[in-house]
Amino acid sequence: MNMNEDALREEICDIAASLHRRGLTHGSTGNVSARCGERWLLTPTGSNLGKLDPARLSLLDDDGRLVSGDPPSKEMFLHHAVYRQRPATGAIIHLHSTHSVAVSLLPDVSAEDVLPPMTAYYVMRIGRLPLVPYYAPGDMKLADAVRDMASRHHAMLLANHGPVVAGPNLAASTDAIEELEATARLYLLLHGRQIRTLTPEQCAELRERYPT
Ligand SMILES: [Zn+2]
Repeated sequence: MNMNEDALREEICDIAASLHRRGLTHGSTGNVSARCGERWLLTPTGSNLGKLDPARLSLLDDDGRLVSGDPPSKEMFLHHAVYRQRPATGAIIHLHSTHSVAVSLLPDVSAEDVLPPMTAYYVMRIGRLPLVPYYAPGDMKLADAVRDMASRHHAMLLANHGPVVAGPNLAASTDAIEELEATARLYLLLHGRQIRTLTPEQCAELRERYPT
C-alpha cells in the first residue's frame, strides 16, 4: 500500500461519512468508489457509510475481482460498468438520496432527460440526466443498461432506486451528485407550478464555457 492509496482510502471514508451525516444516504445504502492506478477501491457490502474503516475498503482489479479487504458492495457491477465505459473516470458515487429517488417515480418526467435546466450549476455539473429503467437489485440487465448509458452520460438516474454519478475525482463526483440531489429537491418544491428554466441558448453557452 502506498501513500497515495492511503490518502484515497481516507478521502473515500471522509466523503462517505459527510454524505451519511447530512442524510444524503441512509442505513447501509449508497456506495463510493475511486480509481487507484490499475485497481479501484469500493465501499464494502452491508457497510454503513457513516462508519467506514479505511483499511477494510474493498480493493478490486480491473475485472472487478477482489484483491484485498472486505467483500465489495453488491452494486459493484454498476461501478465496474461505468469505469469500463468511461476510462477518464476517477471516482463514482451512487446514493439512494430521497429527492432524486422521488423524482425517478414521477410518471411525467422525460426518460431522456429527467430534470429541466433550472440552474447554471446543475447544467455545468450534470447536464443531461437519463432515466435507467427499473430492474431488481442483482439483475444483470441493470448492469447492461448502465453500461449502455455510461458510454454517453457521466450521470444517470436508476428508476425507483437512485442516482449514479461519475467524475474525474472524488471531489467532482461529490459536488455533482449533491447538485443533482439539491436540484431534484427544487424540482419537487416547484412541481405543478410554472417555472422559468434556462433557455437552450443559455444552456449552450454554459456547455461551451464549462465542457463536462
Ligand atoms: Zn443502490
